[in-house]
Amino acid sequence: MAVLITGIGELTTNDPELGKLRGAALVLDGETVAWAGPAAQAPDADERVDVEGRAVLPGWVDSHTHLVFAGDRTAEFEARMAGQAYAAGGIAVTVDATRAASDEQLAANLRRHVEEAAAQGTTCLETKTGYGLTVADEARSARIAGAVADEVTFLGAHLVPPGADAESYVDLVCGEMLDAVAPHVRWADVFCETGAFDEAQSARVLKAAAERGLGLRVHGNQLGEGPGVRLAVELDAASVDHCTYLSDADVEALASSNTVATVLPACDLSTRQSLAPARRLLDAGATVALASNANPGSSYTTSMAFCVTTAVLQMRMTIDEAVWSATAGGARALRRDDVGYLRPGARADVHVLDAPSTTHLAYRPGVPLTHAVWRKGAKLR
Ligand SMILES: [Zn+2]
Repeated sequence: MAVLITGIGELTTNDPELGKLRGAALVLDGETVAWAGPAAQAPDADERVDVEGRAVLPGWVDSHTHLVFAGDRTAEFEARMAGQAYAAGGIAVTVDATRAASDEQLAANLRRHVEEAAAQGTTCLETKTGYGLTVADEARSARIAGAVADEVTFLGAHLVPPGADAESYVDLVCGEMLDAVAPHVRWADVFCETGAFDEAQSARVLKAAAERGLGLRVHGNQLGEGPGVRLAVELDAASVDHCTYLSDADVEALASSNTVATVLPACDLSTRQSLAPARRLLDAGATVALASNANPGSSYTTSMAFCVTTAVLQMRMTIDEAVWSATAGGARALRRDDVGYLRPGARADVHVLDAPSTTHLAYRPGVPLTHAVWRKGAKLR
């Protein structure tokens, strides 16, 4: 059944030819966008929805979350807000709680967070394993994630489990664990950081994953400068995420590569780091994505609007850059072009704001502006 969405005050298509349209309409046919253009030229449809001058944009593409977890880290957050530094080791708390949870509890918690994100306009979401860290626990995390999320990433190399030997653990990740998880995931990722995995260990994990046909992602340069960005570019990873501390060579490497720099402002704020240098990356010509990094430790938000607001108000991105990065940029970081766009052939993932333009995302910080959401052509709210 075709649905005509008309009365669109401002339509963000992200398509270079269609651009941003005023007085626009959109036709959804089943799970796909069938038509986008000026309202006066819109074809007929079975159903008509008038959005009365509101802004319409593609649903958010959140290309970085960690939502297969159990437990809570409120106490760690309180300690951090009282002045304690963030360290990678806090992940172990969530690992214990995740291992102790049943499959049903993990699935219900994941579903609750994905629904929470969708209610705020997120229509395509990546999530990761990484709180299991045994063959069985990583495999079940991947299986549970695959039933709910659009994209699933294997992050067995999130942390060396407490008490384990790092090299033997990397052997396990590259061998038996990867074999068990591979059928359920499209991507592999590694936390390349002091306190997690060093350059050689990270390279081993990524190369083993690439040999099995998985796409690559890297957590890098979160807590200080390091080899993460360089490694990601060398191995043609789809994305290197965090990018909070970058050398000039890192910025240049990203600008001349196909690797997206995914910045995670909610995480930078929640860990009281400085914000990633998105302006510097954009000015150098790098492709920037914005994602939530939703996880119970360092960034417990599913709000992409909050990330966009922060990117504009504090990271000196323009409104259009921030909106692109949170939609088409996220899609680029997942090497997709079926989401993040509103043009014929794209997935019918539509976000209607209760505002006349996307500018209001930054102009009215903190105000919930999601008015309606369609995902794969189905109206969610
Ligand atoms: Zn992360």
